[in-house]
Amino acid sequence: MIFEYTRMKVLKFGGSSVQNAENIVKAVGIIKENLQKEHVIIVVSALGGITNKLIDCCNKAVNGDKSFVDMLAEIKTAHFETINSLLKGDAKTECEKNTEAILAELHDILHGILLIRELTPRTLDLVSSSGERMSAFIIAKIIAKDGIDCQFLDARTVIKTDKTFGAAKVNFEKTDELIQKKVLNTKTVFVATGFIASTEDNETITLGRGGSDYSAAIFARAINASILEIWTDVDGMMTADPRKVKKAYPIEHMTYAEAMELSHFGAKVLEPRTVIPAMSKQIPVIIKNTFNPTAKGTLITKVNENSQLRIQGISSIDDVSLLTVQGSGMIGETGISMRLFRAIAQETINVILITQSSSEHSITFAVLPNEAKKAQKVLNKEFAFELESGLIDSIRIENDLSIIAAVGENMKHMPGVASKFFNALGVNGINVIAIAQGASEINISVVINSKNKIKALNSLHESFFLSNTTTLNVFVVGTGTIGGELLRQINAQHETLVKQNNIDVKVVGISNVDGYLIDPEGIDLANWDTLIKTTGKKPDLNAYVEEIKAQNLRNSVYVDNTASYEVASKYEEMLEKHISVVTPNKVANASEYKRYSRIHALAAETGARFYYETNVGAGLPVIGTLKDLIKSGDKIIKIEAILSGSLNYIFSNCSTTKDFATTVKEARQKGYTEPDPKIDLAGKDVARKILILSREIGCKFNLEDVAVENCLSPESQETQTIDELWTLLEKYDNQKYTDLFAQAEKDRKHIKYIATYENGTARTEIKMVDETHPFYNIKGSDNIISFTTEHYRTQPLIVIGPGAGAAVTAAGVFADIIRIANF
Ligand code: ADP
Ligand code: ASP
Ligand code: MG
Repeated sequence: MIFEYTRMKVLKFGGSSVQNAENIVKAVGIIKENLQKEHVIIVVSALGGITNKLIDCCNKAVNGDKSFVDMLAEIKTAHFETINSLLKGDAKTECEKNTEAILAELHDILHGILLIRELTPRTLDLVSSSGERMSAFIIAKIIAKDGIDCQFLDARTVIKTDKTFGAAKVNFEKTDELIQKKVLNTKTVFVATGFIASTEDNETITLGRGGSDYSAAIFARAINASILEIWTDVDGMMTADPRKVKKAYPIEHMTYAEAMELSHFGAKVLEPRTVIPAMSKQIPVIIKNTFNPTAKGTLITKVNENSQLRIQGISSIDDVSLLTVQGSGMIGETGISMRLFRAIAQETINVILITQSSSEHSITFAVLPNEAKKAQKVLNKEFAFELESGLIDSIRIENDLSIIAAVGENMKHMPGVASKFFNALGVNGINVIAIAQGASEINISVVINSKNKIKALNSLHESFFLSNTTTLNVFVVGTGTIGGELLRQINAQHETLVKQNNIDVKVVGISNVDGYLIDPEGIDLANWDTLIKTTGKKPDLNAYVEEIKAQNLRNSVYVDNTASYEVASKYEEMLEKHISVVTPNKVANASEYKRYSRIHALAAETGARFYYETNVGAGLPVIGTLKDLIKSGDKIIKIEAILSGSLNYIFSNCSTTKDFATTVKEARQKGYTEPDPKIDLAGKDVARKILILSREIGCKFNLEDVAVENCLSPESQETQTIDELWTLLEKYDNQKYTDLFAQAEKDRKHIKYIATYENGTARTEIKMVDETHPFYNIKGSDNIISFTTEHYRTQPLIVIGPGAGAAVTAAGVFADIIRIANF
């Protein structure tokens, strides 16, 4: 009896799905499950990695390297292991014989190549076709084992092509007919070789690398299959190449056009031409995972009405060269591009992307690097006259470039895709060398420097697909009291931030006195200290900074938790590379005005953030408040502030009964002052803070322009040792303060060290305030900042709270980091 199956399925299994016995068992399981329901045709690739090995053999032979023999032995082992573990008896013998015969033939051909040292595309195709001829034979026998009528089908007998070796073009008319004749109206299940075909003269030819997908589509078209299933090693066509973008995920449904564009621009999971035969008969294609068959996979059909996504996927062609033909003689000249692309086409050079500037001054196009020189040569010939007469300046090649493409049908209807696309690249400092948008408007592609490829893919992926989660790549410098506490806080908050705020603060670099460590996957914050000591590199700030730049990660942040000039000297370099800077370190903002303004201008220019809320008042919202007031159009009339916890402690504890020297000593013992209290008492630190606030308002002055009152007598200022300081404080300063406090007590006032900005000037001074003054009751190490503005004229706006301490400062730094993610 003859069965007629009009709508069969085509199942294609790729190299990894048939890599070894274990995987083949999985694939065969899937095939058998299908056979219980309907009739199918199977198309298989060579065992994983075999085609590469065959090509290597050819290259070895043509270079006179006899070790291709060893490689042939490896190929034999791979096949024999599979045969031995899955087959017995006659089937086993037949498979061994077939494999051996092919390998013997291969040996002869390779020996021939070795002798004549010539490798033509024709011979290369003949050799590389062997993989599928061995694998399909074995798999057919394995399926037949259980009494299923299953036969090996050498696709060379049914797929007919032209003579373009290495990338054969199919004669569909003949092929359709031959396939139909062979596989319709029979109960036999065929296991066909992917990738290979034959010419009119029955010469062996291949469809090009990855061509088994295409073979399967050719079969599907010929028999008008109900569906074409591509079984591979991933859960479907993903939003981006999972090897380059860790957060890529499978796309459930996409259109033929989208699949075609994505694969054209490098999504290896589907060979680019595969869609065409399927589309011609509107056969749905589904990509499924052999190793996770219950996953939904990706369905590819003509329309996809459900998708709300503006783009479906992002892909890249890693290595391309760009040719530019440029010259004033091209303006308004008709026929230049026709001549250009005809010349290129005649040499069968594949043009991947084309752009032309609107001035018509130049035409730029991308080709594979190994074709660039050839293209240049052809064009030099074609435009010899124009080059000679200066109408065309030159035909230029640029190398080491990649193409990144975003693909999606909905791009046509939804505005803003391009701006989002370029913004994602721009904020990460990725320079776009050329832009193209296909006329179909379903893709935007750009040419960028190869070194930016991974960063670009991840930035775009994040902005289009994970608009929910932003990853910040944080590089920390300094793990002292603030830095250490910051790492502890990030570790404690990390999970909550991801879950509740969709912010992933990933610490990827830490540098301290012990050394430094960089790990783009994120450093284990429970263990960073040991990790630096055991696996870190030796301390070297310059090397650390160079590595930060070389990592070239998107959304990078440099967090300086030190008070060091050297660490702060790197801000410009960071900002130039679009790396944001967050710091409690005042050094840069208090540096000379020229540098200050350069840093701020750089941040504005590059779009990288420079946040330093903790420069003044630790975790208190001082700078943010001031910025907001200014932004709202308010005018700052006066700022008055207690900005030093150390000085405030000293002046709130000193009295007529407790002398100045004793109070300073006590403050130092309690850790409220610097180890050398002169630093606090000099008032310089407060001066820096009021300078920073004044600069926010727009004052262009320097630290020297702040009138600073030193709390010490000139004699005490000069002391070298701490004991000397205590002696001289008693001798030269105590009396002054005893008198001052006596006066204050008499007038019922308190003494405070106050910084003031007023009328474009700034000063710091010891002042007495009465009980109506908001500063009167500020105790301990608290800070207070009072803003008198046009809007807050009668009642100033006041910020008050703890102005020092590791926990609050670290929290302020942390808040700045998070602000970057929200930006
Ligand atoms: P097969 O041997 O089954 O033909 P391939 O190796 O040719 O499989 O293609 C599958 C591989 O394609 C995946 O393992 C993945 O690494 C890669 N790939 C590249 N881009 C994508 C993408 N956008 N989606 C899924 N896989 C991709
Ligand atoms: N075996 C061929 C290759 O590796 C075809 C394929 O796997 O699709 O290119
Ligand atoms: Mg493939």
